[in-house]
Order: sequence, then structure tokens, then C-alpha cells
Amino acid sequence: MELLEYQQPTTNHSMIDDIPEAIRETVETPQKSSLPVAILATLALGIGGIAVGLLMFLFPIKSSPQASTETVTDQATSVIQETSEPEINDSPTAETIPEPEPIENVLGHLPYEQAKPSELAPITADGSIQLKKSAATEFLKMQSVARRQGIILTPISGFRNEETQKYLFFEVKKNRLQDTSTRAEVSAPPGYSEHHTGYAVDIGDGLVPATNLSPKFANTPAFRWLEKNAARYSFELSFPQDNPQGISYEPWHWRYVGDRHSLETFYKARNLK
Ligand SMILES: [Zn+2]
Repeated sequence: MELLEYQQPTTNHSMIDDIPEAIRETVETPQKSSLPVAILATLALGIGGIAVGLLMFLFPIKSSPQASTETVTDQATSVIQETSEPEINDSPTAETIPEPEPIENVLGHLPYEQAKPSELAPITADGSIQLKKSAATEFLKMQSVARRQGIILTPISGFRNEETQKYLFFEVKKNRLQDTSTRAEVSAPPGYSEHHTGYAVDIGDGLVPATNLSPKFANTPAFRWLEKNAARYSFELSFPQDNPQGISYEPWHWRYVGDRHSLETFYKARNLK
């Protein structure tokens, strides 16, 4: 009954800190030790003993043969103090730098942050298709140079919010009776589309619109022109043939990588599982 009464306060933070004091008291002035102090000391030694045993089991090198009872008591004390402050961990395993966590992907697609409306600029006359300002400027430059060479680069889709992507993924999946992984090969799940960033644009050949969003786009003059010139405007293919993400070849889907933010957006996300 009395033991129970004194076990209760040991969970208290300040009580645990006081335990080493109790040990010293019993060693230096044994005549002063009252019954509760003796119980506490026994408890502390018991916990200390278990802790030392654990420590020696986990780090056998640390337990040198010349370790006296005094150093053992010191170790026990420090173990008790450490366990009372779990945030401060001096164990050697804590010093090793943890491996960076691989970025979560869903069926090969990576998570992307959605661009804010204020960061977007239109790339079509009616304003229905938008890109991040830096990407929009370069796209329009690229488009006008291509036009002078007889190539019509038609934007089909630019920035898309998660709501639109939800429709494109789930509704089209239902209508086409596709299973999830088949759908993911041709469209990203909401939250995982490069179109959320405002840096990705789907491009068609204005002279061969039948090839829009089709692998056949790869055979058009527009695609051949892009292959040769898009890099000049910092656009690159996101999903070339046999891409490491396992996404179907999308010759129409290009992304802007011409500034620091866009580079970070796409190249930080490369650490696939
Ligand atoms: Zn696309």
C-alpha cells in the first residue's frame, strides 16, 4: 500500500530528476534515509539496473571492463535523465543522417502544388487556357516563331485545378470502363497532375487536329518542330517513350523548366521509389 503511494509520484518529471539526489543521500548519509527515501532509492537502483543492462546490451563497446559501480551508477543516472527528456537523444544512432524519404507517388504520378490564379496568364485570345506567367511568355514567343515557319502550335490544355482533374480522372475512367491503373497511365489522379503547376501545356498541330492528344501527334510537323526547337524556350517533354515513371508516351504534353521554381517543382520530385 505504501509502495503504491510512492510509485505514483515517480511518473512526475521533477521526481525523476530527484532520484540521483536520493542515491547520493543514501551513500553519504545513510542515517538520514527515511523509509520513503529508501523505497525511492531501491526503485531508482532497480530502474537504473534495467537501464544499464539495456545500455550494455545495445552498445556493448561502451561497457568497458574497468567500469566501477560508481560509473555504472552515473550511467544509470544519465539514462534516467535521458529517458525523462526524450527529445534530447545523444545515442550514436541518432547522429547518423537519416536517408531522405522517397516522395510518395500514386501509380507513377507525383504530387504537385496548385498554382494560384494571380500567378497565371492566358495563352489563348479568349483566356480559356492559362499558364504560369513565365511559362506563358515563353510559350507565346515559341508559338509566334513557329508560325513564321508555317507551324501552328495549338494549345489544348494548360493549368488545370484539382476539380477539373477529378472529372478527367474519375468520370472519364467510368465512361471508358477503365480500371484505375489503366486510367493512371493516360491521366494523373487529382493532385498529381503537372497541369496543376501551371507549367505544363498540351500542344496540338493546328493543321492536323485529328492527332490531338494522340500518340499520332508524334508524326506531325508540329511535333518535329517542337523536338528541334522547344528547348530554346525551356520546354521539354514530360513523358517521353519508356519514361521512368511508367506513364504512357505523351508527345503532346510539354512542361516549362526555364526558371528556378519550375526546375525545383519537377526535379525535386524525381526521387521515385
Ligand atoms: Zn497534359
